[in-house]
Amino acid sequence: MIWNRDAETMPRSALERLQLERLKKSLAWAMARVGFYRDSLTAAGIKPDAIRSLDQLREIPFTRKDHLREHYPYGLFAVPLGEVARLHASSGTKGKPTVVGYTKQDLRLWREVMARSLAAAGAVPGELIQIAYGYGLFTGGLGFHDGAEHMGLTVVPVSSGNTLRQILLLQDFRPQGLACTPSFALHIGESMREQGIDPRAAGLRYGLFGAEPWTEAMRVQLEALWGIRALDFYGLSEIIGPGVAAECAEGRPGLHVNEDHFLPEIVDPATGEPLPPGREGELVLTCLTKEALPIIRYRTGDVTSLELGPCRCGRTLVRMARIRGRTDDMVVIKGVNVYPSQLEAALLTLDDLAPHYQLVVDRTQAFPTLEVHVEPTERVVHEWGGFDSGRPEVLALGARVADRIRGHLGLNPEIAIVPPKTIPRSEGKAVRVVTRPE
Ligand SMILES: [Zn+2]
Repeated sequence: MIWNRDAETMPRSALERLQLERLKKSLAWAMARVGFYRDSLTAAGIKPDAIRSLDQLREIPFTRKDHLREHYPYGLFAVPLGEVARLHASSGTKGKPTVVGYTKQDLRLWREVMARSLAAAGAVPGELIQIAYGYGLFTGGLGFHDGAEHMGLTVVPVSSGNTLRQILLLQDFRPQGLACTPSFALHIGESMREQGIDPRAAGLRYGLFGAEPWTEAMRVQLEALWGIRALDFYGLSEIIGPGVAAECAEGRPGLHVNEDHFLPEIVDPATGEPLPPGREGELVLTCLTKEALPIIRYRTGDVTSLELGPCRCGRTLVRMARIRGRTDDMVVIKGVNVYPSQLEAALLTLDDLAPHYQLVVDRTQAFPTLEVHVEPTERVVHEWGGFDSGRPEVLALGARVADRIRGHLGLNPEIAIVPPKTIPRSEGKAVRVVTRPE
């Protein structure tokens, strides 16, 4: 089902005209109302009225996360606080949180793009969805909630955590859809199996998984575990929250960007120069219609590529690849750039490994070294007759893991085979990379 056929199937020429018109308006709005944009865009010689083509985007300065922190809390808002209907904020793990605001119109926009994402995943008005994203300042819970209500779903707003309650509600309320992080979906499903319950008997039909990077290999695992269609979505609070881009059931992999509202570009993370479709680089987004927080050319730090080819679903909106990782999550080991998702893809090809892993980067030496922590499945440990790190079977599994990583990535990390259930499980975002010293 296509929620907004006019917007989502617009011919590209019409879409680009609309984007250009909205870009000029949004730049003028930001320059007239936000001191930061007035100064930075004026210094760069930007005159919104003089912009004739989307190619001129490259002349416009970037906005970075630091700019939001420097203007904490409301310095980048384009409307008085009295016109802001809601605030959200990031967790602020690295200092002050970043605060974002929405006018009533921004909230309407958010509901619209979330309804598009849900419909693309296969949600049907009248059905149920269990929302296991955190509610509160984090945009995940309320973003899904409002969009789901708007499109006519019955919402089960359970929020994140509390695995046992999640299981109870999935069994008793029988929602068709589940929205949470992929690592939490895995944890819920595995916990059900431990209780002797087949997750497939819960009757879920689709899952909307995101807020952390994941892989096609993880999709295969989740679909087999739950008997569902697992779909990826993308968003970030600085732009709006979830609803920036989402997969369609027909054309995956690839996430349609709601580019009539959020204009995407890919740039070289080192030089900031735009890269053509198909090339991988850092995603940069410009809000075209936001009122309270009109963000221009935001460096997301997320690594992906754009694909303009037609999609089977009929949508004409550009598709972005799964997020490969974050520019700041990238680990350079002996000159090789490594993203956790690449290691995940290699590890999940081994049946004897549980789908949980952690990468430990040791920076105490002159050159960082990588240790990969993985667990054997409980089935295989049972076959071995127990776990002991000195067992020949454990050593052999370690050698196979090393082989697989060497084959996929050309790397020789240390492999640590740890006992089942010792890698921390996630009830939110999984921590894949641990750096020593912290
Ligand atoms: Zn599609």
